[in-house]
Amino acid sequence: LLDIQNLEKSFGQTPVLRGISLAVKEGEVIGLIGASGSGKSTLLRCLNRLETPSGGTVTFQGKTDHDENTLRQQIGMVFQRFNLFPHLTALQNVALAPQKVRKLDKATAEKKARELLAQVHLSEHADKLPAQLSGGQQQRVAIARALAMQPAVLLFDEPTSALDPELVGEVLEVLRDLAKTGRTMLVATHEMGFCKEVAHRVCFLDAGKILEEGPPEQLFETPKEPRTREFLARVL
Ligand code: ATP
Ligand code: MG
Repeated sequence: LLDIQNLEKSFGQTPVLRGISLAVKEGEVIGLIGASGSGKSTLLRCLNRLETPSGGTVTFQGKTDHDENTLRQQIGMVFQRFNLFPHLTALQNVALAPQKVRKLDKATAEKKARELLAQVHLSEHADKLPAQLSGGQQQRVAIARALAMQPAVLLFDEPTSALDPELVGEVLEVLRDLAKTGRTMLVATHEMGFCKEVAHRVCFLDAGKILEEGPPEQLFETPKEPRTREFLARVL
């Protein structure tokens, strides 16, 4: 579905991604782990063209030359901070882009938005403003909003790290459900437990490269690289 070959990104003279190659199959859940600054966010941002890669290719659905708008629409992203529109209700936040971009009429978009809010267990909160919702609820609205664009791939950049600990679980539960229903997802996360349980494959990024990757049981139990071991010893 998504074939990343030798992806590079520099900011000025500083290389941040130094040749990332990764093939993501339909329905696969990939966990991205690694120290702060290793390039997890930059990798995700290059995939949906919030950043322009400096080198390498990204083949999506068999094509390398998609325009930015297609990529942003087809490769949805959920951020650490939820970035909801503060003056719109949960329902309006979810229904907005489908009307603007997918040209759905308001009634259809709102009907679909209600279904998505139900899917993230927020039916009773549809008419609240973001400020009236908890962090975990806001993040679930942000997930529903990403789903509303019917993306083929969903990227999550530390979706739980801005949340109070007691709110992490409800967001992980939604991610778990999405994984079960065969969503293709890349999740940059500090939640090793979540990676172990949900990811099909975990990639350890170190200084802009995938130093090691494998199924979670292998990567967490018997890491090959000393740097992976060091990292895991610090976070587990
Ligand atoms: P964290 O776990 O802290 O989120 P990360 O793995 O997501 O870290 P990135 O945010 O991808 O790391 O950053 C990788 C490197 O790129 C860092 O050294 C960062 O300072 C640098 N960087 C990221 N964005 C920019 C930018 N817009 N301009 C210059 N440097 C940047
Ligand atoms: Mg990051």
